[in-house]
Amino acid sequence: MFDLKPITAGSVRVNSITRLRIRSDGQGVRSLIFLQGCPLNCFWCCNPETRFGDDFQTLTAKALYQCLENDIPYYRFSGGGITFSGGEPLAQARFLRTFIDAYCKEIPVDVETSLFVSEAQLRPLIPLIHEWNVDFKIFDEEKHRQYTGVSNRPILQNLRLLAKEVPAERILITVPLIPGHNDSDEDLLAMTAFLKELGLSRIELHPYRKFAEDKQRQQGLTPFELPKLTAERLLRIRALLEQQGMVSVQRSGLYGKEKCRYLKGLRKEACRQYQLPVEIIDCPYTGPCIGTCPRCEAELEEIAALMRNRERK
Ligand code: SF4
Repeated sequence: MFDLKPITAGSVRVNSITRLRIRSDGQGVRSLIFLQGCPLNCFWCCNPETRFGDDFQTLTAKALYQCLENDIPYYRFSGGGITFSGGEPLAQARFLRTFIDAYCKEIPVDVETSLFVSEAQLRPLIPLIHEWNVDFKIFDEEKHRQYTGVSNRPILQNLRLLAKEVPAERILITVPLIPGHNDSDEDLLAMTAFLKELGLSRIELHPYRKFAEDKQRQQGLTPFELPKLTAERLLRIRALLEQQGMVSVQRSGLYGKEKCRYLKGLRKEACRQYQLPVEIIDCPYTGPCIGTCPRCEAELEEIAALMRNRERK
């Protein structure tokens, strides 16, 4: 099974880190960490940069934590945390264990995984992970091989194990909907029958996104021509899944000024609860905004440092 050895002892291969994701990949404010490397070869892959080339950093657990620690006030006051994605984050399972044990006693850690790992990689992580986002591509083994290059038997076996050990409300099945490949009623019914047998019902559909094609071209790959998934078909699929007892989850994030206001509210709450002498400025700017700015970052940095000092005493 794919077990990515560290380049230097105790380090992890990180492709990129996206901060300040709000409610789009889990609860609260989250940092999404894309780890490098994946044992699958899905032809629709929307993160091919995590599989090819050597454009990644090697970080120790401490260095990774230092990239994230200023966001702790946001995690704490929003119920958010860290999400490891990829690539396949569980391919570096040993690092995840070290990192979570050392630095995440109070930070909820989620993963986005295909579960194509050995049981030995998976089992020790079970008590450490808060929410499991499991990418379920297709139930039929032959098609799974054809589309991803590997059998799904270890995946199904690992999902059985997870369903036994983890409360169902902490497992979200994410389904990449690839038009003409895994979105037939037959495929969806086979998947739901299996999930029902395991007592799992939370499901989020991820319709194939065209932007994946540009990223694939950038990696020298030739994108496949896919038929369009129409809005009507998507509605029908949702209805079919609901008829089968599935609960459709649709997460959507906060952006722009709305995101800025939300983050400012969290900084104010941190100051209130810790009685910190930091002035939170109400921003007069009304133009396009990415939700944070150097001024907001400076306030956050000051709050995070004061909170650390307070907790050290
Ligand atoms: S499992 Fe995810 S990262 Fe890996 S090839 Fe498939 S889509 Fe890409």
